[in-house]
Amino acid sequence: MKERQYREDAGGIRDSQGRLIDYLRVSVTDRCNLRCIYCMPEEGVEWRAHEDMLSFEELLRCCRVMAAMGIQKIKVTGGEPLVRRGTAGFIAALKALPGIRQVTLTTNGLLLEGELEGLRAAGLDGVNISLDSLEGETFRRITRRDGHEGILRVIRRAAAAGLLVKVNCVPLRGINDHELAAIAGLAREEVAAVRFIELMPLGKAFSYEPLTGEEIAAILERRYGKLNPFAGKLGNGPARYYSAEGFSGVIGFISPLSRCFCESCNRFRLTSQGVLKPCLSSGIGVDLRAPLRSGADDGVLREAVADAAARKPAQHTFLAPAGTEDAESRPREMFRIGG
Ligand code: SAM
Ligand code: SF4
Repeated sequence: MKERQYREDAGGIRDSQGRLIDYLRVSVTDRCNLRCIYCMPEEGVEWRAHEDMLSFEELLRCCRVMAAMGIQKIKVTGGEPLVRRGTAGFIAALKALPGIRQVTLTTNGLLLEGELEGLRAAGLDGVNISLDSLEGETFRRITRRDGHEGILRVIRRAAAAGLLVKVNCVPLRGINDHELAAIAGLAREEVAAVRFIELMPLGKAFSYEPLTGEEIAAILERRYGKLNPFAGKLGNGPARYYSAEGFSGVIGFISPLSRCFCESCNRFRLTSQGVLKPCLSSGIGVDLRAPLRSGADDGVLREAVADAAARKPAQHTFLAPAGTEDAESRPREMFRIGG
């Protein structure tokens, strides 16, 4: 019999490398109200049929099974999670699952204002708001839509409402790199953290050039002085945090290419179609939808989760040269996987 690769008694799922998987990103939709140039095509996206998407009940069942196996923290994402009606109710249900200690949300912020109260009432533990530009023209160039002012407003409102707010920014060379210091400035007094995420070469992102964490740090130090490593704990992920003189919040760097963190990767991703993906850069995925819809019991779902753990690659393949099998098998559509 195949050796089980998870250990419930250890408080988490162990993958084949011995890494503890206790964090799940759940995508509730592949639809979005922006069209960020590095994430989605401008036109011609083929939406998956509604019936192919897992219902909230089905997503919840997957999460309940994984929580019993050791998942403790869940991030709700998309596409844009707030375009799906009922996301706040789903978050409340996740919060009630035995074993789940934290539920957070990643959003582009466009629809957040109207949802703030519901999300707070649902018990949301924090929100990551993506914002790549503070300027109307650059924001439009990146997202192909308007809306930066509303997002800035809701960032302030969410923080004032007591939510833990982090801002995520993807620096793009020659596009928004002139305003990274201004974006970092939101951590002076407005938000708990501003994080700069290195652009990963998936799908549309191939056309754009990332900045490394080191380059961004140099830009910020020219404006704000020395960045000092932040010793406190913030979040579940791979961000390295720094504080700057006069800042109440911190500045984070998530640098999968220039500072690979696969060794300590603790996450799975569940797509809105019900595919459990052990690694963002790989085509590997385990289908949970078929067993869910064929009346399988929880044991079958646990086997599928264990299979995903056993097949989690040791390292991402983002640096594999174009044309190689590793590069060719990379997923092309970040918005379908959930970032
Ligand atoms: N729509 C929501 C949002 O924008 O926050 C949630 C989904 S989005 C896919 C999650 C995050 O992934 C966003 O912060 C986005 O900037 C980031 N992202 C998308 N494509 C990326 C890429 N190729 N490399 C790095 N980050 C990317
Ligand atoms: Fe939509 Fe988020 Fe992708 Fe932008 S990054 S297109 S907001 S899913």
